[in-house]
Amino acid sequence: MVINFAAGPAKLPEEVLKEVQKNLLDCNGSGISVMEMSHRSSTYGKIQETAINDLRELLNIPSNYKVLLMQGGGTGQFAAVALNLIGVTGTADYVITGSWSAKAAKEAAQYGKVNAVLPKVAKYTSVPRQSSWQLDPKASYVYYCDNETVEGVEFDFVPEVPASVPLVADMSSNFLSRPIDVAKFGVIFAGAQKNIGPAGTTVIIVREDLIGKHLKSTPSILNFELMDKNSSLMNTPPTFVIYVMGLVFKWIKRNGGIAGMSKLANAKSKLIYDTIDKSNGFFYCPVDPNVRSHMNVPFRIGSAAGNDALEKEFLAKAEADGMIQLKGHRSVGGIRASLYNAVTLAETQQLANLMLDFYKNNKN
Ligand code: PLP
Repeated sequence: MVINFAAGPAKLPEEVLKEVQKNLLDCNGSGISVMEMSHRSSTYGKIQETAINDLRELLNIPSNYKVLLMQGGGTGQFAAVALNLIGVTGTADYVITGSWSAKAAKEAAQYGKVNAVLPKVAKYTSVPRQSSWQLDPKASYVYYCDNETVEGVEFDFVPEVPASVPLVADMSSNFLSRPIDVAKFGVIFAGAQKNIGPAGTTVIIVREDLIGKHLKSTPSILNFELMDKNSSLMNTPPTFVIYVMGLVFKWIKRNGGIAGMSKLANAKSKLIYDTIDKSNGFFYCPVDPNVRSHMNVPFRIGSAAGNDALEKEFLAKAEADGMIQLKGHRSVGGIRASLYNAVTLAETQQLANLMLDFYKNNKN
């Protein structure tokens, strides 16, 4: 048996994959696969509408927010957010706490002035408390990444911003893993390929009054207003991906909703962090304990800088036991265990057991 700890595209619930398989040749009694179905057909229309309604229910999305499904992934939204919002005052605040928010800031700087709220750091391992932030009261929006997938840094608070400045959050890698109060945000976006489906679609939750403020040069495909006017059907959507995502939303509803996912995420991440913390420095996670991600757990083996030979041996042992895709991101090295919603507690326990065995056999 294989246990997939990939950072994304990531594991999907087995139950959902079986459902996909069962309906692959005949989707909802249509006689054809969802992949062969017109995106203008009523059968597909219902699939998309149901997915959006289920998401609205899961997150209790207020009625003055629109849900858009777009293409171009998280990276597409790095541009889209700026193109749709930065024109209001020409500047935006970026809270850079890891690789992905750094990339978003760089992209946005093509369309307006970007103010880096935090001083530049060599390594991302913390989230400075908000009292030290330099926010610009004239910013069109404040942008941050709720969970930095590469470094494993997850916010333990929602930034406070003036009522006139919308808060924009990239939740690509922790979407639907913990409760959020949507009303605190102007825009939330999340690529599907971690917690909610295959790669190919991005969910955007946007407050209605922020729609229609785009720069003139905004490409139609990234334009929130056009997407909204066309119910996310302005061009051909990735129908199969949205279908699977809809099944994942139903799966989350059957499994305790956001509260259920959150409880599971806490339990799973605790297993791994406890194993790290009880190893007398043999395993080392550089991230400040209060902002350690519940989704992506990065760690080194042997020392804070990592021992190459031990890390290779650990990865080989893990693979031999069926535990795959545990290699850390190339920019930080080491190991990264991604514990998205579909990864079970029993699977996480297996990883913790392997870590404990490895520690016992290799500690000095
Ligand atoms: N934001 C976060 C937090 C991510 O983890 C990623 C990808 O891993 C992205 C954005 C970029 O997403 P995409 O590859 O879909 O463009």
